[in-house]
Amino acid sequence: MPSRRRLVVACLLLVLEAVAFALFVTESLTGALAAVGLTCVSLWVHVVLHECGHLVAAKLLRLPVLAVRIAPFTGRRSEVWVRPAPTATALPLRMVMFYLGGPMANLCAAAVLGAATAFTSTAVTRLALLGAALVGALLGLANLIPGTSPRSDGRKLLRWLSAPTATRAALRAGHYQDEVSRTLRAMDHRLGDPVRDGDDPLLALAAFQRRWRMGHAGSAADFIAEAERLAALARADSTDPMAAAAIGQALTVQFGLWYLYDAVVNGAPVEHREVVEIAKLAQLAHHVQPHRLSARVAMSLAHLLNHRPEQARSLLLDIRADVDPPDLCHVAFLLSAIAECHLGNHAAADALIRAAGGGHPQLTQVAVAIRAADPVPRLFALAPMVDA
Ligand SMILES: [Zn+2]
Repeated sequence: MPSRRRLVVACLLLVLEAVAFALFVTESLTGALAAVGLTCVSLWVHVVLHECGHLVAAKLLRLPVLAVRIAPFTGRRSEVWVRPAPTATALPLRMVMFYLGGPMANLCAAAVLGAATAFTSTAVTRLALLGAALVGALLGLANLIPGTSPRSDGRKLLRWLSAPTATRAALRAGHYQDEVSRTLRAMDHRLGDPVRDGDDPLLALAAFQRRWRMGHAGSAADFIAEAERLAALARADSTDPMAAAAIGQALTVQFGLWYLYDAVVNGAPVEHREVVEIAKLAQLAHHVQPHRLSARVAMSLAHLLNHRPEQARSLLLDIRADVDPPDLCHVAFLLSAIAECHLGNHAAADALIRAAGGGHPQLTQVAVAIRAADPVPRLFALAPMVDA
């Protein structure tokens, strides 16, 4: 759908145009108002048709539908969200067809309405049908123009056409963040104390996670600045150790899993000072609750990034899949598999990847890529040599 402002302006222009035109043709105020009223109602119908077009396309193309919202004139964006697997076959073509589904529904309806005018005898009906056809055609075309809105159908399908590899990579990154978020939720679940009133560090952590999980916050720079404020809070002497532990393990897992992804998928190993920073945060959690799986996962992730696979493995020898949350166990199995790869134990790594059960397909792919690499990829970048 186009932006709301564009819709309102288009609406007003249409109403004015329609009233003037209807008065001119019918020479009757009642007839003119009826024709214009029907044209306005047709906008609502076309918005619903537009989303139904996307929905039918998604179903025909076997794209998994995540959510549907049809809310014309409420100020909220009507949209059909799909979430295909990044490895799905012929994905660019299917996504282009999906984005075409909405505008094509409007354009087809406009054609039918236009053709129907030939079968009416009264000026008012013909005018109403023409108005509705015009609304449908405009809505369809407006959505096809890439324009300024990054969320218009035209912009999205153009992205799939012009840069399919980058768009697929962005989709994969979105799936990966979903897996990171699931891991964080599994850790929250085992955190123990609920967030108490006046417990500022935990409230700050909850707000941080909620904001980023919902994707409400702005740029990556905002995200990092906010994470740095939280890290400082965790390190402060005045912060309750339990709250510091919660922040430490959440930040370690959020950033650590992404450092792993960057090193393996993007071939961009993290700088060593970031690894040191992560290790300090992980230590905050591990120091307080050394036996808790979430703390061990965070600490082993820090060890892995720091090329200490033996320490990483030793922390994850005891994973109780029947006791701990499955999402956390799967991540623990996969981290353990990565540690085994670095130690050269490929059979053990294979068994652990199987034990993880594919519940985290993106992280599993990271582990499989490390398993297949020879030599295993570096996870942090070596500091540049300094001349003595
Ligand atoms: Zn659309």
